[in-house]
Amino acid sequence: MSFYELVQKYREFPVEEFWGKVTDSQVEKIIAQDRLNTLDFLALLSEKAQNYLEPMAQKAHRLTVQNFGKVIFLYTPMYLSNYCANQCAYCGFSALNRMPRKKLSLSQVEEEARLIAATGLRHILILTGESRSKAPISYLKECVKILKKYFSSISIEIYPLETEEYRQLVDAGVDGLTIYQETYDELIYDRVHLKGPKKNYRFRLDAPERGARAGMRSVNIGALLGLGDWRKDAFFTGLHAHYLQNKYLDVEISVSLPRLRSYPGTIKEFKPYCQVNDKELVQFMLALRLFLPRCGITISTREAPDFRDNIIGLGVTKMSAGSVTAVGGRINRGKENNIPQFDILDERSVSEIREMILSKGYQPVFKDWHPIEVEVS
Ligand code: SF4
Repeated sequence: MSFYELVQKYREFPVEEFWGKVTDSQVEKIIAQDRLNTLDFLALLSEKAQNYLEPMAQKAHRLTVQNFGKVIFLYTPMYLSNYCANQCAYCGFSALNRMPRKKLSLSQVEEEARLIAATGLRHILILTGESRSKAPISYLKECVKILKKYFSSISIEIYPLETEEYRQLVDAGVDGLTIYQETYDELIYDRVHLKGPKKNYRFRLDAPERGARAGMRSVNIGALLGLGDWRKDAFFTGLHAHYLQNKYLDVEISVSLPRLRSYPGTIKEFKPYCQVNDKELVQFMLALRLFLPRCGITISTREAPDFRDNIIGLGVTKMSAGSVTAVGGRINRGKENNIPQFDILDERSVSEIREMILSKGYQPVFKDWHPIEVEVS
């Protein structure tokens, strides 16, 4: 069975009616339970459950410390290319956007890597726009070869691949895959992805599973909150993580909770379907932690400094730091035409984030994994 069949099953489910019937005593009972089923998770995403954020937060804190300790793991994104074959209505890299397109040369990759490594970070997420022709697997493998000298973990956030292609990148030294479904609502998905290979909803939906099958050590999924009804997208994201955790026991599954942000460029500003406020984002995070106690939760620099500071202790386990969302953002810092994919709100340096985490009584972690090179004779 693929996850698509589960999506189909819940598509028919009368979610609004279910949420309308959630009672106070039901929410209290769910919070007190040791294990939650999928309908319990759905109930914790209801408006009724918004009145129970405090007890949910206490339990989320306890479960997070139990499963992860008092640590926040740090990583940073590195953009290799902004060429894109798709027209996503909500993104600055859309093929429709008139902007300078760039791809790092291998020597620029090395230069950028050196600058990032000097901050102490050892885990990196490499990103490209979704263009197979401009950023082919062969190019990515060359980049990974260089990056391996500086980093102990290399994750990718690129166009979805076939299992065999993921395997080639795993063999080259990639150990993590991030891929967002953007929205699990197939109709909205079709509407906001105007043109390009990304219109294939199902191929993207199954990509995390293909990555897990290809030997990725970690797989990170998410929905871009605001594209569709956030409560429904939150539910499907949790369901997807649950499905992957149960099927790929040796793969570390995490969830990101990105909210839509504005972007620079010539294409019309996208109007989100809904605005997800801070309280709602916290509700999603807490419900997810109660449903999946072992799932990693990532909050990126899309979020404001105050918000990021205040959610430490509530379930988050991973944060990006010192982020730039432009190609070669560090080597080109301050130069014209250094156009980002979207605006970030937390612009603090890696050392500032490190200090903030320590001040909260948590340990910032720069490296928690190192690959062992096995010689095949
Ligand atoms: S979201 Fe990804 S695929 Fe869509 S336009 Fe932006 S970079 Fe391209």
